[in-house]
Amino acid sequence: MAVVVVGSLITDIISYVERLPQPGETIRGKSLFIGCGGKGANQCVAAAKLGAECTMIGKLGPVNDPLSRIHIEALTKNGVQRRLFHSSQDQTGSAIIMVDKDAANAMTSVLGANADLKPDEIDSVAESIQGADVLVAALGIPLKSTIVALKKGRKHGIKIIFNAAPAASNLPSEVYQLSSVFCVNESEAEMLTGEKVDSIESADRSAQILQERGCKVVLITLGSRGAYLKDEANNGILIAAPPVKAVDTTGAGDSFIGALAYYMAYYPKLPLQTMVERSCQVAAFSVQKPGTQISFPTKEELPEELF
Ligand code: ATP
Repeated sequence: MAVVVVGSLITDIISYVERLPQPGETIRGKSLFIGCGGKGANQCVAAAKLGAECTMIGKLGPVNDPLSRIHIEALTKNGVQRRLFHSSQDQTGSAIIMVDKDAANAMTSVLGANADLKPDEIDSVAESIQGADVLVAALGIPLKSTIVALKKGRKHGIKIIFNAAPAASNLPSEVYQLSSVFCVNESEAEMLTGEKVDSIESADRSAQILQERGCKVVLITLGSRGAYLKDEANNGILIAAPPVKAVDTTGAGDSFIGALAYYMAYYPKLPLQTMVERSCQVAAFSVQKPGTQISFPTKEELPEELF
């Protein structure tokens, strides 16, 4: 199995409204969309849509919970192998999102069953990690379970992409040390390092701080500006994103990470810089379509030179 993802699955319930309501106010929405999200599920589907053989490890609510079923269907449709656990007490993670006419949003997210993914459960599916080329892990599940996965990955010499998202203010040193590529966006980098990332110089300073904590390679994604890569030899480079007309940037980071996992697994001889350039190209495709998983491009939709 080429790519294994250990992470969160969240069902997004999105209503599109003219404007966001005030407390106590009821607003008539224009439409409702129920979709699959969660960093883990998104990153896994992003890699699978490019053609990677993928396994998703995570935790949902009860089997018959409709919020669980849509994840199972989406993962199956995208050819993802499932190593999913079901909580009997907690519901599937969910996010209630309202999006107004200017694309501003308000959201509440409930981790639900994601918060109940136990270290023992990760242990019980260790063979899926052992057989992978690349392990992708993010936050949004208990950190102790993530660390078990990272340690299994390291023990078997698997390349590890660690995405410190959703934002955290500090992480144990072993997380940095176990990561082959430590990936954050600007606000996550600032939260971890205290360095506001608003220029190449500040991205470099932030990446340097993260590297000093023990990770080999740091990637800071910079939205429409692209990504800042600081490699093992301490060289930093800004990789520009292609200029495109973005219609919905939700999940751009997950598209980018899924693509990077794909390239690391299937094109291991490519220079890392080339992999990041190509991942920027893939993510740029995703922002030109609305939605999250649905906006991630398939191999067939992308130019041949990316493969
Ligand atoms: P999200 O939380 O929405 O998943 P993020 O904040 O984690 O996103 P970003 O840094 O916004 O991640 O974007 C990830 C990558 O997606 C960028 O490095 C870039 O390559 C690409 N990208 C994002 N926005 C744009 C855009 N407007 N135009 C082109 N590429 C973009």
